[in-house]
Amino acid sequence: MNKFFPFALVLCLSLAGAVTRAEVAPKRGLTEVGQEQVKLRGGFWGPRQKAAAAVTIPHALNELEKDGHLRNFDKAAGVEKGKPDGHSAFDSDLYKVLEGAAYALQHFPDQPLQLRVDGMLDRILAAQQKDGFLISYFIIQEQDQRWDDLRLMHQMYNAGHYFEMAAALPGQAKVLDSAKRFADHIGGIFGPGKRYDVDGHQEVELALVKLYRATGEARYLELAKFFLDERGYAHGTERKPFDPTKVVVPPVPDDLPEAERKRLIRRNGLRVRNGRMQDHQPVIEQMDAVGHAVRAGYMYAAMADVLRFTDAPGYEKALDSLWADVVGRKMYLTGGLGTNERRDEGFSDAYVLPNAAYCESCAAIAHVLWQQRMALLKADAKYADVMELALYNGTLSGISLAGDQFFYQNPLVAKANTRRRPWIGLSCCPTNLSRIIPQVGGLMYAVGKDEVFVNLYAAGEATVALGGGKTVKLKQETEYPWDGKVRVTVTAAAAEATGIALRIPGWAQGHPVPGDLYTYADAQTPPVTLKVNGEEVAATPGKDGYVHLRRVWKSGDTIELRLAMPARRVHAHEKVVENTGKVALMRGPIVYCLESVDQPEPELATLHLPPANALTAEHRADLLGGVTVLRAEGVAAETGQPFQLTAVPAYAWANRDPSGMTVWFRETPAPPKAEK
Ligand SMILES: [Zn+2]
Repeated sequence: MNKFFPFALVLCLSLAGAVTRAEVAPKRGLTEVGQEQVKLRGGFWGPRQKAAAAVTIPHALNELEKDGHLRNFDKAAGVEKGKPDGHSAFDSDLYKVLEGAAYALQHFPDQPLQLRVDGMLDRILAAQQKDGFLISYFIIQEQDQRWDDLRLMHQMYNAGHYFEMAAALPGQAKVLDSAKRFADHIGGIFGPGKRYDVDGHQEVELALVKLYRATGEARYLELAKFFLDERGYAHGTERKPFDPTKVVVPPVPDDLPEAERKRLIRRNGLRVRNGRMQDHQPVIEQMDAVGHAVRAGYMYAAMADVLRFTDAPGYEKALDSLWADVVGRKMYLTGGLGTNERRDEGFSDAYVLPNAAYCESCAAIAHVLWQQRMALLKADAKYADVMELALYNGTLSGISLAGDQFFYQNPLVAKANTRRRPWIGLSCCPTNLSRIIPQVGGLMYAVGKDEVFVNLYAAGEATVALGGGKTVKLKQETEYPWDGKVRVTVTAAAAEATGIALRIPGWAQGHPVPGDLYTYADAQTPPVTLKVNGEEVAATPGKDGYVHLRRVWKSGDTIELRLAMPARRVHAHEKVVENTGKVALMRGPIVYCLESVDQPEPELATLHLPPANALTAEHRADLLGGVTVLRAEGVAAETGQPFQLTAVPAYAWANRDPSGMTVWFRETPAPPKAEK
């Protein structure tokens, strides 16, 4: 064989994949610019993507192999004997890391990793049943219960992650084909006139939209919408409204051991339709965010996606209301979601935001994915504002700078001696982080009619196809998020007039978040300036939050955006009682925290930062992979003496000696203890 043959093959296949994807354009809103079109080599994201490829993904695969995720497929294929390892959602963890590997390998070719991935895919495919079914746990031991207890057993969650992985592998026709057979198997059982039922952990819905786009087969989009529309209805062989009085749960005998009794009672509780899995009402009637935050985020993301590709009456009203509820009343400053006050890993009531938060890493990722889809659906920068917030803060805090240690929960306050963990057996979070960082490039741009939308600023290069064979190439040079100067150079342009829409972040216009859940302590809004080829142009965004530039661009044209980045004090809405008298610090999109390791005053809960004391920013290339720190004169509670307080980006905490941490701290002296 010609030694160049493998290259030629890869090129053809990846081009074929790109062509297939481009065929399915949304009916409304914007189209993504895929991560494969965006190179982030230097700047903020380059080192992180490299760490994901070189450290996180191989490490995650090692851990999953050790825990038996791969072995389960061998058992299902009949190559090995024995009971399945782990729980019924085990397959999904492997799929997520392989999805991340698919993105990473496109940017950092790595022959050993590629061979390892290919070998794993073969072992997975070998386990697929003749009828298309592919969940190792049920193939090994419970063939007759494949689709029982859909709310507890995560069948669809596994399937969804399989579809997402397959859609991320455009060059692997056999995997996409296998995903289609699995999806068709599901579509043969569930759907109008068949079985009416929904999963307990949403994910398959947004994944089916991806499968639809990767294959052009509309039945997958219809199945996605079916699973969304069946929420809040009775399950069975016909569609009927849900009647809570008719829920039949199996009795739990008194004479069982206590642990077993508790287990059965819990299972019965989950059988009863509830808000935990957003199955308490039809989706178009859901106006308030309730329940498990990851499930909610994936479901809202799927709703936004479905609405972009087909008619879905009622979806937009629900999405608008859910968005206002989450962003205006239930979101942490970091973009994190979920208090777990109801032990459902989910939302509390409006403004109930204890800093000892749950904020699962997966919930922040689901939040990013939802906001991205809202930004695409509505072409409005405020959604990208929240996406950016949740990405830089809520999501990144889940993974160490080196890429090999993790948090499952990301509270806004932590006790001394909190440490990240090298792995987490219930590995949804580390595996989700393994796939989100390699795909960050795919969050940065979007395409409208003859217009490129720049949603995130980061050093790198993008090739943007505008349709009709038109292509624009852009290069961003910037130290963002440490500096608000962004230079965009057009390196290849279309012959006709083309739009470039620049998002002017809300944080640069006086709003740390859309709405009034969090506000800056002062009203200053430093000017935003914009130059095209050195000449100043108006930088005032439209109602949609973008400045729209339109001209016949030539290669070498430059756009210079300057966003001032003063350090800012942030206050929470007065109804967030936990933060009364407290302040948080932000600079640009970055939320800061105090880590006890940086303070001479170790009692983070009692020190304070008087409102008049100035904040200064200093970039420290030597610290935490290069970060800008904030400093101010704080007051120690014990002595009343001033001391220099140092704040670091909240995402970067717990990368040094074990330490306490707080995002919110006192602005006024702590009340005397007796008042507590
Ligand atoms: Zn998780």
